[in-house]
Amino acid sequence: MNKENLKKLPKVNTLLEDKRISKYQKNMPYAKYISTIRTTIDTYRNLIVKDLILEFEVEDVFTSCIDNLKDQPKYNLQKVINASGTIIHTNLGRSLLSQDAMNHVMTVGLNYNNLEYNLEKEGRGSRYDHVEQLVCDLTGAEACVVVNNNASAVLLTLISTVTNGEVVISRGELIEIGGSFRVPEIMNYANTKLVEVGTTNRTHLNDYENAITENTKALIKVHTSNYKIIGFTKEVELQDMVDLAKKHNVISIEDAGSGNLIKLQKYTKLNEPTIQDSMSTGVDLVTFSGDKLLGGAQAGIIIGKKKYIDLIKANNLLRSLRVSKLTLAALEVTLNHYLEESEVIEKIPSMRMICENPQLVKKRAKSLKTKLSKLNNTKFNLIETKATIGGGAMPTETVDSYGLEVISDIRSTKLKTMLHNHKTPIVPLTANNKIVIDLKTITKDDYHVIVDFFEGLEWEILL
Ligand SMILES: *Cc1c(COP(=O)(O)O)cnc(C)c1O
Repeated sequence: MNKENLKKLPKVNTLLEDKRISKYQKNMPYAKYISTIRTTIDTYRNLIVKDLILEFEVEDVFTSCIDNLKDQPKYNLQKVINASGTIIHTNLGRSLLSQDAMNHVMTVGLNYNNLEYNLEKEGRGSRYDHVEQLVCDLTGAEACVVVNNNASAVLLTLISTVTNGEVVISRGELIEIGGSFRVPEIMNYANTKLVEVGTTNRTHLNDYENAITENTKALIKVHTSNYKIIGFTKEVELQDMVDLAKKHNVISIEDAGSGNLIKLQKYTKLNEPTIQDSMSTGVDLVTFSGDKLLGGAQAGIIIGKKKYIDLIKANNLLRSLRVSKLTLAALEVTLNHYLEESEVIEKIPSMRMICENPQLVKKRAKSLKTKLSKLNNTKFNLIETKATIGGGAMPTETVDSYGLEVISDIRSTKLKTMLHNHKTPIVPLTANNKIVIDLKTITKDDYHVIVDFFEGLEWEILL
């Protein structure tokens, strides 16, 4: 080791004082800025200690630091590569939007638009009109209103229709969704009394019936989207609950969760009920998410009988939960895809991933493996995996997929951190202390980034 070289290495403060470097500070989070400078110096120190560079100019450290800063993402919210195989990954932004949807978001965002302007009547219009007819056509509902997300859809529905009354719900459906959406708490906000019936694993129709009193305003069914009760179980079919509600003249409500509009069994082994199925029971109100199985932007869609949707539209709270113009732009295009089922499978990314033939995934896995085969220090096993639907949509359901298991001397925890710290962060599938790149959720543009990462890793190992 050349001690003179170590002494020559500039300090963090010296780099910070350089104007060519300090101008990057405003472009990125401060912690990222500092850590990039530190990492640059550390890399040089490492090379010096291992005698891998014998001579260098101080100026080289400056230019290398500037290059690294240029490479850093400018924003906190940034693209990551989902190599986890979870298709609707809530932590990674749930559904990807279709190209058509994004193009329309651009048009609406870059221009003035008729968000609340009625061009025919040449005056004030309503933002809630843009997708209402389309949703009704697709689902068979009488009326519809779209809000910020499904949690607000449930809250607004309850507050507008059953306040000061009792709502009957099965104990098996008292769910909490990640980010603390808890059914009992929502009921509390809505000032409704929750009447729990049945047991965790079994609820019968007469449990509902016995709980109905003169104060009962609604029967509600909640899709248990993030867990499954298995074994000795019994839940009441929506149809039976709806019929019972009618018989007793109370409202029937379903929180359907993910909002599936096509028969997935045509393409997969999955058998998720559709919103059309729900509507055909004659249920009064159904709510679902816009960014789960539907494959659109974050939104909550409320559909059902016009007289109840009108109550919801008249509620002042709607203003606080209102949907944005960018969401409406993306949602309208996404819903338009549903007018032609082939477009759903072709254009909506999460639907394409769910329905595509696993052999195509295997092909991609093989081709990525070939691309990476020239590396000496990292090897890859092509393995079968199960890609999960995720997103609070279908908790235990998977589709067949393929992945590359990484074989390396680097410990998997370290490797995972390195993947996360890559210029474009990569989130792998981790199972049994193994790192797997699942090909199901990787998009076309991601391949070269993954190849880049592992090629870079080769150098890290050598150094
Ligand atoms: C996901 C989910 C919600 C919450 O929906 P968001 O759109 O995330 O607000 C509520 N209920 C059920 C049953 C869900 O699956």
